[in-house]
Amino acid sequence: FHKLSPPYDPFDKPPCRGCSSYLAEPYIKCAECGPPPFLLCLQCFTIGFEYKKHQSDHTYEIVTSNFPVLDPTWTAQEEMALLEAVMDCGFGNWQDVANQMNTKTKEECEKHYMKHFINNPLFASTLLNLKQAEENQHSDTAIPFYCKSPWQGQRQHFTFPD
Ligand SMILES: [Zn+2]
Ligand SMILES: [Zn+2]
Repeated sequence: FHKLSPPYDPFDKPPCRGCSSYLAEPYIKCAECGPPPFLLCLQCFTIGFEYKKHQSDHTYEIVTSNFPVLDPTWTAQEEMALLEAVMDCGFGNWQDVANQMNTKTKEECEKHYMKHFINNPLFASTLLNLKQAEENQHSDTAIPFYCKSPWQGQRQHFTFPD
């Protein structure tokens, strides 16, 4: 008995190991765990989810078989590099993101991310308060934590019973 079968999921793909949600691409595959593959959604990945042998500092791959072409001037590699750079440098840290990207400017990275990723449901809840903070910044309110990663230095460690 299936209550809500997603119309967009023709494949029997395992769910996120962290939150059991449907994995929408791009998602994270641990390069050190498995088989079976250890898959995480971006949200669980960014909070440093750990389970049994899997540690948050394991190397990983970003899985995306058919990365949508969001912008003809951005290649799939650049899209992935941007996601990785934002994870590494933190949301809002566009100068460092651009430095890591190499191929795009600070403005291009910020504009592209805001346009294509900020409304992505995967990021929405994680970044909602930062988006708000940014809007507040435009109205001259000092946001002391703007330009800091929402997850850096506050990784949470989860353990789940078998
Ligand atoms: Zn998850
Ligand atoms: Zn792992």
